[in-house]
Amino acid sequence: MNFDPNCLCPLCGSNPEKVFYPYSTKFNNIHFNYLKCSKCPSVFVHPIPDSATLDLMYSKTAYHDKYSNDNEEIDFTLSINLLKQYAQDNA
Ligand SMILES: [Zn+2]
Repeated sequence: MNFDPNCLCPLCGSNPEKVFYPYSTKFNNIHFNYLKCSKCPSVFVHPIPDSATLDLMYSKTAYHDKYSNDNEEIDFTLSINLLKQYAQDNA
């Protein structure tokens, strides 16, 4: 997988060392590659999404409504109740 060696790490401004993850993510007809910075431990996508793309990625209907729901709260409640049971058994 090729990448632009002149792109810059968004944290430290250094060039990428290598492709970190051998698969890209395609969103809105753009392929985002995962690159490892040569100087710091950062892994970043290239190209870095612009504001309009981020708005699309994390829109309420495409992201929050799809991936955030009450199931997490239900799972959390089940976990707490299970932990309470063990805490009472070991008290
Ligand atoms: Zn860096």
